Amino acid sequence: MIKKIGVLTSGGDAPGMNAAIRAVVRTAIYNGIEVAGVVRGYNGLINGDFIKMDARSVGETLQKGGTILQTARCREFRNIEGVRKGIENAKKEGIEGLVVIGGDGSFRGARDLTREGMSTVALPGTIDNDIACTEYTIGYDTCLNTVIDAVDKLRDTSSSHERCSVIEVMGRNAGYIAIEAGIACGAEVVLIPEMGYDLQKDVIDVIESGKKRGKQHYIVIVAEGIGGVVEMAEKIQELTGIESRATILGHIQRGGSPTVRDRVIASQMGSKAVELLIEGKSNRIVCMKNSEITDVDIEDGLNMKKSVSEELVKIAKQLAI
Ligand code: ADP
Repeated sequence: MIKKIGVLTSGGDAPGMNAAIRAVVRTAIYNGIEVAGVVRGYNGLINGDFIKMDARSVGETLQKGGTILQTARCREFRNIEGVRKGIENAKKEGIEGLVVIGGDGSFRGARDLTREGMSTVALPGTIDNDIACTEYTIGYDTCLNTVIDAVDKLRDTSSSHERCSVIEVMGRNAGYIAIEAGIACGAEVVLIPEMGYDLQKDVIDVIESGKKRGKQHYIVIVAEGIGGVVEMAEKIQELTGIESRATILGHIQRGGSPTVRDRVIASQMGSKAVELLIEGKSNRIVCMKNSEITDVDIEDGLNMKKSVSEELVKIAKQLAI
């Protein structure tokens, strides 16, 4: 039976990471397993930066955004020497299994840890929901709620002034945030990196036909991967004569108290990770499939592909008339 595990958060932070840490710590302690917190992602393994976690050390964290263990990117960990050094430090600390909470990059680190002899289970924590092997990633729902709150506010002012509001939301390679926020906020136009766009056909024509149908203000949601919202707002104003303003929501989308959905799923996933380590499993990603919490091999998970639902893209367009 495993006696001690470590837990770390890596890559970009996401609301609900604390709920996941708390679930890992308390499930482990409930089962008589000690827990070390690894500080600043894989840097903590390389630097031997561990903190003892007990049931109380994760008290009052469930409702907090960010991550109490801090997170970071760690270049050294991409080399095998870094991974080996990390495992050596973890073993010195008595750690026999690791839970890694992060995105695809962090999963590659977790796979390397397993290859070099450390049992590792990964949890999907990223606001982008862009991890192929899971229907849901911790932080996505909170992020969406932050976005719709901001867009609703921008709509108030854009409606009062009869303006067009061009809003950049997160999503460098994936349009999940943009498309769901677009539907939830009734955006006239949603532009996502998966689909590309034509300014005249997909933006200007849509705004002008909306104007003919009596619309007095317009919301254009643009995923970060498309970018260029300031220039786009200028172009829209120039070509349509409608006053246009750009807003980049930026890092506020990463923060805030996690929603119910994020707290519950993070708690389920955190518990599942520890159960897997107790069962002697390794190299697994905890994921959601058909709304159930399950797990998949890390390598298989990294090779999967997922794309924004065509149904959602269609609905976003149809409902914007
Ligand atoms: P995310 O986990 O959110 O995708 P990153 O891609 O920045 O974030 O990855 C987080 C960390 O995971 C990196 O700083 C690095 O230490 C580790 N990592 C990323 N890619 C690899 C890789 N190909 N091999 C090993 N470790 C990696």
